[in-house]
Amino acid sequence: MKITYSIVAPIYNELENIPELYRRVSDVMNSTGEPWELILVDDGSTDGSADAIRTLAREDDCVRPVIFARNFGHQIAITAGWDFARGDAVVIIDADLQDPPELILEMAKKWKEGYEVVYAVRAEREGESWFKIWTASLFYRLIYHITDVKIPLDTGDFRLMDRKVVDVLKDMRERHRFPRGMSAWVGFKQIGVEYKRAARKAGETKYPFRKMFRLALNAITSFSYFPLQVATFFGFASAGIAIIAIPVVVALRLLGSQFFEGQTTTLISVLFLGGVQLISLGILGEYVGRLYDEAKGRPLYIVREAPKD
Ligand code: UDP
Ligand code: MG
Repeated sequence: MKITYSIVAPIYNELENIPELYRRVSDVMNSTGEPWELILVDDGSTDGSADAIRTLAREDDCVRPVIFARNFGHQIAITAGWDFARGDAVVIIDADLQDPPELILEMAKKWKEGYEVVYAVRAEREGESWFKIWTASLFYRLIYHITDVKIPLDTGDFRLMDRKVVDVLKDMRERHRFPRGMSAWVGFKQIGVEYKRAARKAGETKYPFRKMFRLALNAITSFSYFPLQVATFFGFASAGIAIIAIPVVVALRLLGSQFFEGQTTTLISVLFLGGVQLISLGILGEYVGRLYDEAKGRPLYIVREAPKD
């Protein structure tokens, strides 16, 4: 059967949210009168979410389960969704109902008007800590300014993409990925629709600060060399200071000044340069580590159970 809409939801310990997610998505999608599928990607849940997904799939053929062998992370789960989706349009949606399924109808309207990527813009956010909202907002602005790709501000992964776009994305097999950036990078006709991001329905966020930080690093390293250029900048700046400082100090000493005597100055400059060098090395390491991961060429994810058809 030809499928028009594939809805992809990554699931990591969302047992309490699955029934409501299924109910709301199926209500919305049935109202379109077109064939649809709901791909639930279980990302190594430990709370029995996989069983809940299997049960749903038995009851309704529209539900297609993809069960991972372990936790591979949100971005990889989305990727598996792209790989298994059969629809003419693919929608990525969070399983915690922070993204209202009802918005899919509005996205579909834009898609039918000819837009190939319809992303959801968070006009308002509810039930999230000021710290999360503030760091997220800062992050989106930082990414916007330092990368070559103009990733729309305040958008998440909640978006509808045309089959053409998904086919391109499926060929991009990078390991450390930032899907919302990738889907901006490919181009095509894109447009945003605004929505109010609700609070999580049940359960806790799966994005502690550590994971948010890694995602931010992935985003920056996947789309820019800016951190490497900063290292170069610091190198030139400290070399510049040295070139000016050396003759000044020599002159001062020849004139009999005691100002630069002692170990303090030596110690400070050694520490400063050591710091700059180690940070630069760390930045380089982030890129080299990613190269190493790519070179290994391991599969992006391991599927324990794929959909039957
Ligand atoms: N998620 C996942 N694997 C992970 C972490 C999260 O599949 O390792 C899923 C999670 O189940 C949810 C979505 O990714 O459907 C977004 O996660 P969450 O709501 O915790 O992020 P937040 O909205 O707090 O940024
Ligand atoms: Mg959430």
